Amino acid sequence: MNVIERIEISHHQQTLHPPFPAAWDSQPRQLFPATIVRVVDSEGREGIGSGDVMYGFDDFRSLFIGQDPIALERHSGVLDNIGFHAGRCWPLEVALWDLAGKIRGEPVWRMLGGVSNRLRAYASSGTHRPLEQVVAFAEDVRDAGFPALKLRFGRANIEDDLAALTAVRKTLGADIDLMVDCNQGWRMPWDVKAPWELAKAREVAEELIRHNVLWMEEPLYRGDYRGMAELNAETGDRLQIAGGEMTRESYEFIEMLRQGCLDVYQPDAVCSIGLLGLSRLASRVIEGGKWFTPHTWGNGIGLVANLHLTAGAVGPDGCPYLEYPFDPPEWTPEARDYPLKTPILPDAEGWLVLDESPGLGIELDETRLAATRADRATYR
Ligand SMILES: [Mg+2]
Repeated sequence: MNVIERIEISHHQQTLHPPFPAAWDSQPRQLFPATIVRVVDSEGREGIGSGDVMYGFDDFRSLFIGQDPIALERHSGVLDNIGFHAGRCWPLEVALWDLAGKIRGEPVWRMLGGVSNRLRAYASSGTHRPLEQVVAFAEDVRDAGFPALKLRFGRANIEDDLAALTAVRKTLGADIDLMVDCNQGWRMPWDVKAPWELAKAREVAEELIRHNVLWMEEPLYRGDYRGMAELNAETGDRLQIAGGEMTRESYEFIEMLRQGCLDVYQPDAVCSIGLLGLSRLASRVIEGGKWFTPHTWGNGIGLVANLHLTAGAVGPDGCPYLEYPFDPPEWTPEARDYPLKTPILPDAEGWLVLDESPGLGIELDETRLAATRADRATYR
């Protein structure tokens, strides 16, 4: 019988010149870490995953060695248990789906439902740049063919956030959908700034409505279900409320659906619930008339995993746009996808298209990975 023979985990760090001032991180990032998971079966095939750092996994490796690689339901259950006791080890599940696809000769998007092989990308910025740079960036986004753009709020003064939004809307006109990520749902370990209260989120929401913004992301602390539900009810069809990118448990999303917290559900398959669990959750989200469009702010392997999931299980009707991290000069497709031989690129109209390659259809850049090998995966 074909079994899982070994699981290899390696950390890599790409130096960022200049450091990347991520909007949601008080410390500019000097390094871009990537943790690569490889699962190898006894016939020599290899599945690849990446996303979270896999801390805490080593104690549980023996739960997978010698198992049938395509027992995906079982593996998802064990990873869910590990997530409760230790870390978010979902990149292994991504690697197992890649391997299963290679064993069956099928792409993951088909295995997860086959609804579609493509989704339209939105350009997702990651910085608070000066006004004139934000405007130049918005022009680049439009010229590259993206149908939508997400800006980041959270500057020291909300007036500066609103000035950036006003300038971008003026530059792009009504042709491009705009989203705003408020980044109030969670903090980096070293940040203890309090999230917005409902009154503040309400004020900002009215401004976003005035600028015809499509969705407002993470306006409140991730556990403030009541606040999100109130805000969502008040804004109605005028503004979509989005969130849940790092929420760990399916039952939290079920509760958010029950309370009407969000219009847009954004769990990232490489850190929350995994591909199998999210394909099921996505069905419930879509049945409830909501959108399912994962967070994908990581390297291209996470982007591809979320693309397979969402194209295959949901398709463009339930996911109008998928996040595509893009914020040059630091955050280019080439820099973002450094573990891969070829960066993930949308076509001229912003579509991300998957083909019939088995598994995830990606190939690692082994030379680059060898050159960036590190003993940990940190930002500094
Ligand atoms: Mg976000």
